Amino acid sequence: MSSLDELYRQVILDHYRNPRRRGSLSGPHIHAEGMNPSCGDEFSLDLRIDEGVITDAAIQGQGCSISQASGSMMTDVIVGKTIDEAREVTATFKLMMGIDEGEDPLDPERPGAVLGDLEALQGVKKFPVRIKCADLPWTTLTEALDRIDA
Ligand code: ZN
Repeated sequence: MSSLDELYRQVILDHYRNPRRRGSLSGPHIHAEGMNPSCGDEFSLDLRIDEGVITDAAIQGQGCSISQASGSMMTDVIVGKTIDEAREVTATFKLMMGIDEGEDPLDPERPGAVLGDLEALQGVKKFPVRIKCADLPWTTLTEALDRIDA
């Protein structure tokens, strides 16, 4: 295992063991839930949106370290962003994971290119069966955002 792989592994385990923003929101919020039956992962997301900006998020779920860490990292990145920016970050993540094909996701010129800790999930690409685990929180986020736009 390279030292970069080891660093990534530590970042993932840290989010898994100490998930950020775990819980639920009181007051007005949007709620969405997702499942990844192939692994047994469950994920739910509460978002508070004020004037087009995600001002708070809370997550709950159970499952493997990849799915839960991805959700924790996601909330770290999306809080404070506009809905459009959150969609850009989602697109970047899906490019990075090879779920969608296209331009270099981490090109610094790209909107939404800064993924922070999420870059640690790149290694998951080597294990195609786990990509769905990493993607679960993002599918759930997209569902939540679609509900706002509708
Ligand atoms: Zn999983």
